[in-house]
Amino acid sequence: MPGRNKLLKQCESYTRGSKFTVRCRCKGNLMKTGHYRCKFHAGMSTGPTSILGQLNSLKNLPQYKNKTDEYILNAIRKNRKYYREA
Ligand SMILES: [Zn+2]
Repeated sequence: MPGRNKLLKQCESYTRGSKFTVRCRCKGNLMKTGHYRCKFHAGMSTGPTSILGQLNSLKNLPQYKNKTDEYILNAIRKNRKYYREA
């Protein structure tokens, strides 16, 4: 059926209104932790994951305003914890 993502599964959280006895009925994505979470239970964004996305976001900061792309990429590779290639 068009418009329905088949990768979404039922959220694994429990609702607060039921005192954590009833499962949330929303659909959610698979997270880094291995659990499915809907948009209400996923928490805040973890930021850009690809190295080009991190480059574009760091270009907006004042401390990287007059730096070259190579300098910023080296700073990302030095301080990285997690990123995807391209
Ligand atoms: Zn949920």
